[in-house]
Amino acid sequence: MTRKLKVWVDHQACVGNAMCESFAGKTFRLNEDRQSEVVDPMGNSEAEILEAAENCPVSAIFVEDAETGERLFP
Ligand code: SF4
Repeated sequence: MTRKLKVWVDHQACVGNAMCESFAGKTFRLNEDRQSEVVDPMGNSEAEILEAAENCPVSAIFVEDAETGERLFP
């Protein structure tokens, strides 16, 4: 079963290089200010979302299990 994720971006940290979009483009989208927004926390697989988080150069992406609150990244 696919677990529900809570995914968010720290806009103080995000530098808008769009790495997250290239790893998980159905979950993250850059807005007009070149800030990554979570458009659908279930848009990509958990592995893809975690890969996006791991590849964010400024560690601006946070991922939790939405039901248990377990922190999955960082
Ligand atoms: S990879 Fe990180 S810094 Fe780059 S747009 Fe996504 S959240 Fe922002």
